[in-house]
Amino acid sequence: MLRLRSLGSGSTGNATVIEATGLRTRRLLIDCGMSLRVLSQRLGQAGLEPGQIDAIFITHEHADHIGCAQRLSGQWRIPVWMSEGTWRASKLSFETHLLRLACSEQPIDLGELYLAPFAVPHDAAQPLQVRCSNGQHDWGVLTDLGHINDAVRQALAGCHGLLLECNHDPELLQQSAYPAFLKRRVAGALGHLANDQAAQLAGELQRGQLQHIVAAHLSLTNNRPELAEQALRTAIGSSIALTVAHAHSGTPWIELG
Ligand SMILES: [Zn+2]
Ligand SMILES: [Zn+2]
Repeated sequence: MLRLRSLGSGSTGNATVIEATGLRTRRLLIDCGMSLRVLSQRLGQAGLEPGQIDAIFITHEHADHIGCAQRLSGQWRIPVWMSEGTWRASKLSFETHLLRLACSEQPIDLGELYLAPFAVPHDAAQPLQVRCSNGQHDWGVLTDLGHINDAVRQALAGCHGLLLECNHDPELLQQSAYPAFLKRRVAGALGHLANDQAAQLAGELQRGQLQHIVAAHLSLTNNRPELAEQALRTAIGSSIALTVAHAHSGTPWIELG
């Protein structure tokens, strides 16, 4: 069994649990961009405690992703994976035996759960996103990227589930009160994925084995759930399940299979 639950998504804080159950259960937390108190609360709502997390994967050093990583890892002695660039840029210190450096296209075996990190274009030091497999089903997690390239397409080909950034609607972004430099940054090639860009990728991946898409990292200012949903539905039709992750409450558990 392979299931995913978002504990919150967007610039107010990202965290996602992936749980694989075979002979035993392994749980991975992807990002923890909130305080330890809030994260513990949200884990509690998912029926979990911090001590039940087996590994942490940090995608990049932005505060909405790295949040309480140092405290969570230190307090519960959880190994934490990230790229060397992310670690250096974060300026955080982890216990040597708990810090694990991840590289693009270098698989990580957590037992029951296999990770395939891949590089993405985003304005961070060395950002990685990740595909997680239990050998039967695969979840792809993809947020915080300015555009889709062939390496990203390849990394996610054949995924069964996809947590996919739908950050903004280009028109709402242009109309917003954001300063011009920030609008340029968000919409730029190293910024965030717009609804139509996400929809295009979803449409391409749909030709594989895709069962479920979670629309994630929606901007509270420059997007609306119904706009993200509409863009994705136009691209994928009605046969694939679709959930929009809430900024604070995330999603329920979503199981593949
Ligand atoms: Zn982010
Ligand atoms: Zn970011």
